[in-house]
Amino acid sequence: MSVRIDETHGAALMSWLESANDPATDFPIQNLPFGRFRRPGEPGWRLGVAIGDQVLDLRFASVVDVSDMAQLMQLDGSSRHQLRWRISQGLRHGSVQQARFQAALLPAAEVEMGLPCEIGDYTDFYTSIHHATTVGKLFRPDNPLLPNYKWVPIGYHGRASSIGVSAPGLGHTFQRPRGQVKAAEADVPTLQASSRLDYELELGVFIGHPSSQGEPVTMAQAEEHVFGLSLFNDWSARDLQAWEYQPLGPFLSKNFASTVSPWMVTLDALAPFRAAFTRPASDPQPLAYLDSAVNQKLGAINIELEVWLQTRMMREVGHAGVQLTRCNYRDAYWTLAQLVVHHTVNGCNLRSGDLLGTGTLSGPLPEQGGSLLELSRGGKQPLVLPQGETRSFLSDGDTVILRGYCQAEGFRRIGFGECRGTVLSARQE
Ligand code: MN
Repeated sequence: MSVRIDETHGAALMSWLESANDPATDFPIQNLPFGRFRRPGEPGWRLGVAIGDQVLDLRFASVVDVSDMAQLMQLDGSSRHQLRWRISQGLRHGSVQQARFQAALLPAAEVEMGLPCEIGDYTDFYTSIHHATTVGKLFRPDNPLLPNYKWVPIGYHGRASSIGVSAPGLGHTFQRPRGQVKAAEADVPTLQASSRLDYELELGVFIGHPSSQGEPVTMAQAEEHVFGLSLFNDWSARDLQAWEYQPLGPFLSKNFASTVSPWMVTLDALAPFRAAFTRPASDPQPLAYLDSAVNQKLGAINIELEVWLQTRMMREVGHAGVQLTRCNYRDAYWTLAQLVVHHTVNGCNLRSGDLLGTGTLSGPLPEQGGSLLELSRGGKQPLVLPQGETRSFLSDGDTVILRGYCQAEGFRRIGFGECRGTVLSARQE
């Protein structure tokens, strides 16, 4: 694991593209996140980098000669670093390649974004101890945090087929799921539309360089296998979850839809925002295979995260939405490297394009819950919204918007864009 800060991160670095120098943009020249895009009606995806309010077509700019994102993602760390360097060179003020790069730009507003890559396997972790404790109290009041939590990065295998991508407007839309629900006082469950539909504020971790089956990844190598991060909403049906989750974990309560943001922010871009990973002295320290000096010093990442809600009523009166939560990825109980290492310790291999979810990222304070389940105390204390509406869980027509950004003294702020999705009414029988 090496965290390298160089000229591509310089706060004074400017682009010849004016919108990239706007202090409010998520995509200054210091960011350079990767995604897939196309003009409306085009059959295939093109590989691009977000810069200001434009998208750079990497092939058209002669930066890469591949059209498959997985091919680009499987590069090792130093090749990925060189790629970042070339793109930064072409976009910076005074570049001799300006004309060629300029011809390869398309306005972001005129293109459609796809999933960042073909997603292979998807694993969702549970890395916020604050989330695990609060939710544990609601599901098991007598036994909130299970004894393995502080030793094992807990996760389950999710489903990639139903992951969709954010878009402007309503974003990724999906029907409210139906499933088995059993009320506490009922003798038998019923099949019905979920009445406790929720979001989960997460980060998506895209695997880049693959690992081989039977060869566990070490802490020193772990980040070599991570291409980048995006925002991730793991929509969850709490009533289905409560009935089905024991003994094998979540199943249909989680796999009906998940939403990812279209841009993968690379670990290179995140280098200036690394933070120390610490554990309270009273907690067990990680086992040796999950520990390293670099991980302790720089294993965490300082990413500010926000959840916004725009209800149908807000949309109708032109209200942009209300902020529900603000927290920071730095507070996670396990780091990126620890997730990769633990995932492969048994010999499991990771492939380019696999996706790891961090798990719901709740902060330490009650108002920093990364889901409505937490913010409404299990549905007992509905949130009161500006127009007088209330929410314990999501209503049809609700749009949930995740945002994320990094800032540090002496560096340019970079952002993740948006992860936006909307709940549609359940399918009629
Ligand atoms: Mn989750």
